[in-house]
Amino acid sequence: MRTSSYPRIVRRRSPLHGWGVFALDPIPKNTRIVQYAGEKIAAGKSKAREADQLRRGHIWCFSVNRRWVRDAEVGGNIAKYVNHACKPNCYSQVIGDAIWIRAGRNIRKGEELSYNYYTHGTAGIPCNCVPGCKNTL
Ligand SMILES: [Zn+2]
Repeated sequence: MRTSSYPRIVRRRSPLHGWGVFALDPIPKNTRIVQYAGEKIAAGKSKAREADQLRRGHIWCFSVNRRWVRDAEVGGNIAKYVNHACKPNCYSQVIGDAIWIRAGRNIRKGEELSYNYYTHGTAGIPCNCVPGCKNTL
């Protein structure tokens, strides 16, 4: 696996929500951008953490599958700041127990990265991805 050629990205204040992550270079479609790092915990153990994070306005627990969750509050990286969007420019892909954020289309330099969290309203947070979005995270 190449390790030195991931696209350059940066964390900045986002017009969507809190911090966001932005492309410093153009990123071709399907490029692996960054791994979603975080402590691997049993799904049953994540519920209390999710509730605690949600009270502070964060969604940092990412389901790997039915059994496992990655909690980016512990050992997380810049990937935890990538915001949700209903029509995002990135997507997530699980490979083994690793979660990758990949480009869903060609991304321009300076664009904010986003992917669909697929929380299906469980967080109860109104989506802000575009003005007037009616969805709930
Ligand atoms: Zn939305």
